[in-house]
Amino acid sequence: MDFSLTEEQREWQHKARRFADEELKPLTLERDRIADPRQTFDWEIIKKGSRLGFRTLAVPKAYGGHGADLVTQTIVMAELARGDNAISKTFCQCWKWSQLITIICNQDQQDRFIRPFMADDTYLLGYAATEPNASSDNRMPPESDPKAGWKLKAERNGDDWLINGEKMLIANGSVAKLFFVNTRTNPNVSIREGTTLFLVPSDTPGFRVGKVFNKNGWRFYQNAELIFDNARVPHANVIGEVNGGHKARAADTSQFGDIELAGIALGICDAALEMGLQYARKTTREGRVLSAHQTVQLRLSEMQVLTEALRSFVLRTAWERELASQPGAKSKDYLNAQLVMIFAKSSVQRVTQLNLDLHRAIGAMDEAADKLARDAAIWTHLAGSTLLNIIAAKVLFNS
Ligand SMILES: Cc1cc2nc3c(=O)[nH]c(=O)nc-3n(C[C@H](O)[C@H](O)[C@H](O)COP(=O)(O)OP(=O)(O)OC[C@H]3O[C@@H](n4cnc5c(N)ncnc54)[C@H](O)[C@@H]3O)c2cc1C
Repeated sequence: MDFSLTEEQREWQHKARRFADEELKPLTLERDRIADPRQTFDWEIIKKGSRLGFRTLAVPKAYGGHGADLVTQTIVMAELARGDNAISKTFCQCWKWSQLITIICNQDQQDRFIRPFMADDTYLLGYAATEPNASSDNRMPPESDPKAGWKLKAERNGDDWLINGEKMLIANGSVAKLFFVNTRTNPNVSIREGTTLFLVPSDTPGFRVGKVFNKNGWRFYQNAELIFDNARVPHANVIGEVNGGHKARAADTSQFGDIELAGIALGICDAALEMGLQYARKTTREGRVLSAHQTVQLRLSEMQVLTEALRSFVLRTAWERELASQPGAKSKDYLNAQLVMIFAKSSVQRVTQLNLDLHRAIGAMDEAADKLARDAAIWTHLAGSTLLNIIAAKVLFNS
């Protein structure tokens, strides 16, 4: 097997590493300390990163993007995450949804939305599914229960649709210019049959951002409430068919899934390991540096084993997903895509806790070690995380 990176992959890796070291690391704690969650965001860093290609990395070359493959994307997300994992997530949220525009939207929608996205360094994207009473059951709804899943109502009104209701926890919610929005257009059937997927620009009349959630970790990342009060959206913004939203979303061939949750976790593990090693090498106890004590060595070696195992697993999975995304690919099996997220969650939480433990009392006051552990705790809540095990088990036992 050949694990070497291509010249192009190395170039992106170095570019992302330099950006993380020179631009992200100096501001990560300063942004984390800001109390008001609306103020933690920094447009200047987004513009700088965008100019280097980190916002448009995944857009195919035919649309003016960089057309990076999934391995390159994973390497870049991990490198950026070493500097600040919430900023890395802000960028790769755009990779996921910009690819969706190029894959599942029609020509008119692509013309109207991908061009402005490419042209504007402040054009960010979001995807709205979660509601106060619809969360895990958006991802794994009972087969035919109309009560499960999102309720956001969309009704036809001439050439337009009127959307009413609320979404919550939506990433890039207070900063995105365009959202994919899951609505319910037939409440009497399950969301598999009664969903319509819309493109909703943030300047849509009747649409507004509500509160921005005040999270313990990922404080830079903006998770917001979206309020739809007779939001008027043209019929031309329906993706696929009316009541065909589930089918339209399933046509995404990018294989991106939630790979960023594993790639970013790898970047945090790298950062925590680096921090732990530095601390252990410079701190002295009982006349010896910490790194000379066996219990400390055991902690550090566990951190390293988990980090390297995650690196291998996440890059292998990215490579498999890249092969699966090619036209005519034989295997569409995605067991590893689920398993790697489960492993990423347990690894990132363990590695950051070991780093915190290593710092001990200082750790409670060392904001950097504490921040990584708070960021890692977010994995407990992400993308229906408790259901990943169930999805993985289903794939395993049905295959
Ligand atoms: C940082 C962050 C970013 C996010 N970004 C987005 C976004 O961009 N767009 C978006 O739409 N959403 C977003 N979300 C929302 C996210 O997808 C949901 O929070 C997630 O799906 C919640 O899933 P859950 O299983 O953790 O919680 P819930 O579904 O609320 O479950 C709560 C608890 O109930 C249990 N439970 C749920 N269903 C069952 C069941 N059937 N049987 C038994 N137990 C059950 C769960 O295991 C869990 O313990 C984001 C959330 C966070 C934290």
